[in-house]
Amino acid sequence: MIKLLPKNCVGCKQCVKICPFAAIQLEGKTPVLNDRCTGCGACVDACRFAAIALTGKKSPGMKNLSAYRGIWVIAEHRGNSIHQVTLELIGKALELSRQRATEVSAVLLGERVKELPPLLMRHGADRVYIVDAAHLRRYRTLPYARIISELIVACKPEMVLFGATTMGRDLAPRIANRLGTGLTADCTGLEIAPDSGLLLQTRPAFGGNIMATIACPDHRPQMATVRPGVMQSICFPEHTGEVVHIAVKEKREDNLVSILKTIPKKRSAVDLEKAQIIVSGGRGLGAAENFKLIKKLADCLGAEVGASRSVVDRGWISREHQVGQTGKSVRPRLYIACGISGAVQHLAGMQHSDVIAAINRDPKAPIVAAAHFSLIGDLNRIIPEMISQLQKR
Ligand SMILES: Cc1cc2nc3c(=O)[nH]c(=O)nc-3n(C[C@H](O)[C@H](O)[C@H](O)COP(=O)(O)OP(=O)(O)OC[C@H]3O[C@@H](n4cnc5c(N)ncnc54)[C@H](O)[C@@H]3O)c2cc1C
Repeated sequence: MIKLLPKNCVGCKQCVKICPFAAIQLEGKTPVLNDRCTGCGACVDACRFAAIALTGKKSPGMKNLSAYRGIWVIAEHRGNSIHQVTLELIGKALELSRQRATEVSAVLLGERVKELPPLLMRHGADRVYIVDAAHLRRYRTLPYARIISELIVACKPEMVLFGATTMGRDLAPRIANRLGTGLTADCTGLEIAPDSGLLLQTRPAFGGNIMATIACPDHRPQMATVRPGVMQSICFPEHTGEVVHIAVKEKREDNLVSILKTIPKKRSAVDLEKAQIIVSGGRGLGAAENFKLIKKLADCLGAEVGASRSVVDRGWISREHQVGQTGKSVRPRLYIACGISGAVQHLAGMQHSDVIAAINRDPKAPIVAAAHFSLIGDLNRIIPEMISQLQKR
């Protein structure tokens, strides 16, 4: 624990500048610690006047973890439309909240966003914190990170979830750093540990060769980003909740960055994340031209075409079709993997599909173990037969 010795302090503010967690302020000439202190000791080393010491006890930021309650989802929206990943995260948060006997809150920053809370509630949010202000109209890192960090410090949620989107990937690490807590990025699974109640956050690690489960036992909140398409949204048409309006003032530091122009990204012709059915092809196709089999089967089923990375790397199909850890995460009702072995990096992107069917000549391929149905044999015979049967119908 950090111990302040005010009688030695000369008010140089070196400790305030060096503290990575904004845990020391000067009140008049007296240094004061707040509960963000993690006891890292950076201020002890920085103080030249022996006004700060480290003791053996725990620091304020590390104690009283039980004061943190509830699960928060940081809502993302554009043009008054909520991003699907927010609804998926609320669905997961609801499942986790039942095991923690707690509530789910969504946090919504923006301008004129008052119409959005009912949708968040219908997907399971018990409470929506709204911060509605002109300077929050478009996402900017500094004001969003500052305001959400301040809210977290004030309300002490136990867990905070973000979409692993451009915004979430930018915002979550900033907030984790400000709060001095941990963050697991790009999770593919979230569970509650039955014994400790900790949030177990699973993600591919070491180049995707293993799935690592990460916990944050000593700091709060426990924070994770989750890729779109991994969790499932649930709709409860009758569910309502509480709206809490938070008033904020614009600060000078909020405006260090201004947005000059927004250029919308061209919409990809492939929409794997929203597809109900995906037919994916892998190296077992043998050659680029055999993708026409996959496309034909996809047409018969009204499906999108997916692919493994090895065929994308070979240039058989464009990258926007890639499913997996470094491609898209998908959750269709039906995923048909044709000539795909089911490497862990591929499974990371499609294992939550409702039904998985594998076409593979190797009965021991990992995709066969992950699939609900498997057709063992040569895809060059199986797929044309499937197409012919579907066309007859
Ligand atoms: C950091 C990292 C990230 C990665 N990210 C991704 C990712 O996002 N997505 C991804 O897919 N991969 C990813 N990979 C690559 C991954 O490890 C595998 O190499 C890749 O998924 C293998 O692709 P595949 O299944 O098409 O090919 P293979 O592993 O070669 O499998 C081909 C399969 O086809 C079957 N087969 C062969 N001929 C036939 C036939 N005639 N009929 C039926 N079956 C047949 C074989 O039995 C085999 O199971 C990543 C790897 C790393 C290191």
